[in-house]
Amino acid sequence: MAQTMTKKPAPPAVKLTKLLINNQWVDPAQGKTFDTLNPATGQTIAKVAEAGPADVDKAVKAARKALESGPWKNMDAADRGRLLFKLADLVEKNAEELATLESLNCGKTITDSRGDMQGVVNWFRYYAGWADKIEGKTVPVRGSFLSYTLRQPVGVVGQIIPWNFPLLMLAWKWGPALACGNTVVMKPAEQTPLTALRVAELAIEAGFPPGVINIINGYGETTGAALVVHPDVDKIAFTGHVDTAKIIQKAAADTLKRTTFELGGKSPNVIFADADMDQAVAGAFHAIYFHGGQCCTAGSRLFVEDKIRQDFVERLAEKAKQRKVGDPLDPKTEQGPQVSQDQMDKILGYIQLGEKRGARLMTGGQRIGDKGYFVEPTIFDNVKDDMAIAKDEIFGPVVSVLPFKKVDEVIQRANNTYYGLAAAVWTKDIDKAHLFAKEVKSGTVWVNCYHIVDTTTPFGGFKMSGQGRENGEAALEHYTETKTVTVKLG
Ligand code: ADP
Repeated sequence: MAQTMTKKPAPPAVKLTKLLINNQWVDPAQGKTFDTLNPATGQTIAKVAEAGPADVDKAVKAARKALESGPWKNMDAADRGRLLFKLADLVEKNAEELATLESLNCGKTITDSRGDMQGVVNWFRYYAGWADKIEGKTVPVRGSFLSYTLRQPVGVVGQIIPWNFPLLMLAWKWGPALACGNTVVMKPAEQTPLTALRVAELAIEAGFPPGVINIINGYGETTGAALVVHPDVDKIAFTGHVDTAKIIQKAAADTLKRTTFELGGKSPNVIFADADMDQAVAGAFHAIYFHGGQCCTAGSRLFVEDKIRQDFVERLAEKAKQRKVGDPLDPKTEQGPQVSQDQMDKILGYIQLGEKRGARLMTGGQRIGDKGYFVEPTIFDNVKDDMAIAKDEIFGPVVSVLPFKKVDEVIQRANNTYYGLAAAVWTKDIDKAHLFAKEVKSGTVWVNCYHIVDTTTPFGGFKMSGQGRENGEAALEHYTETKTVTVKLG
């Protein structure tokens, strides 16, 4: 086992490239395909079927039929749970193949992909356990009546996911949706469709009935948009860019669909002078460079108390210079490529803007090589709050260091953003830690740690970082409708 973990795995053969509708692998009606690339080389891995509106309609019809008739509708909740447990077991059994495929298509390091696969297993098991514990209430209504509530599935759920954690985002969405008895039409990101197709094959093997899980590959503006406007889709669950969410919310308004959004961030990571310095340096480093900064929770605004700033930034820069950036399939690699040419160009554009506005480039700033989409871990010091690099989500390995002096000041500046996904504080003073946790406007706050996200803990955004919560019991709210039944007594 230890040897498999230290050897570079061979890229797996890619067999699944079609659409999955009603448990059948089908070609798209118009026969169109798109290329999916390996971001480490820029070369095509496979041509993948592209769903047009007719295919989206076919998938929604299959999902509707599975919802309203057939084995899924009448299945005991405990048996829905058993299917999810079985899927978790199959993912666990095939974890190495899935992790390798994820790294190939998404560019994340094989170590991170292996971590993601464990996450996928955990998420499916957690929601498998919920399936037969989603209960209504008896309600003390006035008069001679018995009132009780039923928690029923929302219906056909369209799920649109991004490219940064392709399978983990799938698990966050399938887990609660299926535990609650919904049926699913999923659109993976156009950059990273391959692992979703393989896990859909495992779902058929696990025994999910036809139509319960459908996969439509394609671009957002076409395939995704067709799913959003489809009148027979009851809910859209979306993870992606804030600007896309605005388009989706407007498009979903015509059919008044339920929507949940998990969007971006510009998360403040606050280091007080009384923090454990070794832990804070390591934590700040992990906060920004995990998965090359391609995380909605990336700690990209690094507030450092002025009296320790110089030393702190120098230590951070020393670590950044030593980071091993390269082939994601090599177990020694610590950072892979960015996912695409577009993303790399956007990141390099922000770096240029930072330099132009006079922020101090401590390290990095360049593309690495001329093949694939690699970017150096980059640190800007002495950044001002109104610079683009301090305001916009860059989604790359670029951190902006912002000096501060006082607690109230840093809380006010941390909140001076339209985002509110995550925040962190590093200090040994519990008063400061709790004050910050209470006052910062974000869905998640970490104290002396970063990027800790569990199956059990609600996750989502304040302000323009999202609507609704995923994970934990909170997600079940968004995948059930509550029905009140009132019975006249006597
Ligand atoms: P990113 O900038 O991280 O790629 P996007 O929001 O563009 O984020 O993409 C996230 C997901 O949303 C992808 O699956 C993408 O195809 C999809 N998407 C993009 N635009 C639309 C749209 N107009 N309608 C529906 N889905 C979309």
